Amino acid sequence: MKVCLSTFLFIFYLPSLLWSQRCATVDFLSDQSRQNNVHFRDATIEIQVVFHVVFLNEDENVSAAELYSQLEILNDHFHRRNAKLDIHIPEEFRSVAASPNINFCLAKKDPSGQNTTGVIRVKTNVENTGCRKNSKTFFAMKTSLGGSDLWDPKRYLNIFVAQRKDCGFAQAVFPEQATDEMDGIIIDPKYFGFKTDNRPFHLGMTLVHEMGHYLGLKHLATGNNCNSDDGINDTPSQVGNYFGCPSYPQFSCNTSNQFMNYMSLVDDACMKMFTHGQVERMREVISNQRAGISFPCDTMESVNTDYFLYGNSQQWVIQQRENKEFDGELELYNSLGQKIHFRKVQGESRYIINKTDKILTPGNYFVLIKTKQSNQSFFFFISN
Ligand SMILES: [Zn+2]
Repeated sequence: MKVCLSTFLFIFYLPSLLWSQRCATVDFLSDQSRQNNVHFRDATIEIQVVFHVVFLNEDENVSAAELYSQLEILNDHFHRRNAKLDIHIPEEFRSVAASPNINFCLAKKDPSGQNTTGVIRVKTNVENTGCRKNSKTFFAMKTSLGGSDLWDPKRYLNIFVAQRKDCGFAQAVFPEQATDEMDGIIIDPKYFGFKTDNRPFHLGMTLVHEMGHYLGLKHLATGNNCNSDDGINDTPSQVGNYFGCPSYPQFSCNTSNQFMNYMSLVDDACMKMFTHGQVERMREVISNQRAGISFPCDTMESVNTDYFLYGNSQQWVIQQRENKEFDGELELYNSLGQKIHFRKVQGESRYIINKTDKILTPGNYFVLIKTKQSNQSFFFFISN
């Protein structure tokens, strides 16, 4: 009886106190439009990240080792090939467990094309930059407000490690809410990376959860009733969000609830899975609203054109930065200046070169894109 009572309190009572702390991202309730141009169903997607460490005190200036460990944690959970076999996921949910197949890496070039470590450090004298906002953005996202200016959020995933005193551990900007001045994720340094002394939020899962929001996912429950839902088919309806570490099973809305989902609000150690539907949603967002952040970790690109090149395991893609369709001609040259490929492009926002065609072998290339409006060109380097 005692056990039952404490479990009851843990799941339903304490949680209401913790609710605003774990994640401050507000579920975005409008109908999110979907387009059907998802090209790379199974291929690995790579995303370039810039960390802005905005620190007031030296202990908030997280070390490079902490940054790398957090990146590894992200990659681990966004790249789980064996999710379906994971015995830590209740058997009834294993069949819908899925890997987003997304790699995150530090940006190698800054917006002006200079080499970078992908980490910006700003010593601030402004308190609470991770919470404070003006009408347009968070202080952390603006140099003039004591933060660090966003790198073009259409091309970079900006993650701010900044003091959040009174607004929850972390917060993400949904794709639909993003502007040129406010985008990315803000996380308090205390909840960043692997920290053994910070149980139960010690495993770096706060950023994994926020990444889900940044890529368009909502909490499993978006209101306190069975009619509100996250819009994903294979996450069962539940009446509210779970906290702590509930024992399996938990029921509401006539379903067995998937409280161990990454988009639940449970403790770090109890977060276990994304579903197929969630993975599909995230990859749709990357193919559409956030198309520009997909960028191969080992390939050079031009930063001053309306186009860029990225790759996955099967294809190279020349992509219009804002996913706008264009009409024109595309010419590819090798390092000797020989034209090796030509193609007319009509009403497409991206041009795909299959790797099996072996047009782009390792080496330097030059691409020229001619449209009615302009001729643009850039060099790139293929390393593999
Ligand atoms: Zn959340």
